[in-house]
Amino acid sequence: MDPRQLFKDERLTGMCAYCGARPDTRDHVPSKVLLDEPYPPELPVVAACEKCNSEFSLDEQYLSCFLECVICGTTDNSGLQRPKIKRILNENPKLRYRIEASKRKDEAGGLLWLPEIDRVRATVMKLARGHAAYELYPELGEPVDVGFAPLLSLSDEQRVAFENVSTEDLQPYPEIGTRAFLRVFVVGGKADPTQVSDWIVVQPGRYRYAVKDGLLVKFVLSEYLACMVSWE
Ligand SMILES: [Zn+2]
Repeated sequence: MDPRQLFKDERLTGMCAYCGARPDTRDHVPSKVLLDEPYPPELPVVAACEKCNSEFSLDEQYLSCFLECVICGTTDNSGLQRPKIKRILNENPKLRYRIEASKRKDEAGGLLWLPEIDRVRATVMKLARGHAAYELYPELGEPVDVGFAPLLSLSDEQRVAFENVSTEDLQPYPEIGTRAFLRVFVVGGKADPTQVSDWIVVQPGRYRYAVKDGLLVKFVLSEYLACMVSWE
């Protein structure tokens, strides 16, 4: 079943996907700042309250800009690729400065980027709750596990476990930590189609996700940041 067909049911949950309050607006999952124009038609939408809707948007903007800078290896517009991120950073020099200040050189002279972990974590949790709500899991407490790490920092075994969303047996969770974000060279930013057949691709190379009964939510931002959130 195409989960987008569940759109009509989102109102029936009757609560904000993020805090459970009475909803007074709707929120795209993922939010548009994580995607490029033209947007795919029929983006998943969940019910949300105004407070959550506005509260999370700065963190999502931060993560989106941070990832683009890490992937491109610079905070300078001339080296960035996504037009939307260039525009945001042009209008927000403080954010550019803040991301630039998180850049370090490691001992070998390579670039290390130190994300604002709380903001990344808040965004990962928000997105996971949004996906879960969209798949009609309305009432969720605190997750038992929240992990995120660059895809290329995973071992082969972790990568296989992460990509696998089709088997009935739950794979052992990769131990995804909050390690520093290394700069890596991403060729084309395209997902390997053989690895994404069981994923819902919102926008190729930009965003994909999978929700498993159980409940486990996985998603990948810009084919760079692997995220995984699980509940009992
Ligand atoms: Zn809310």
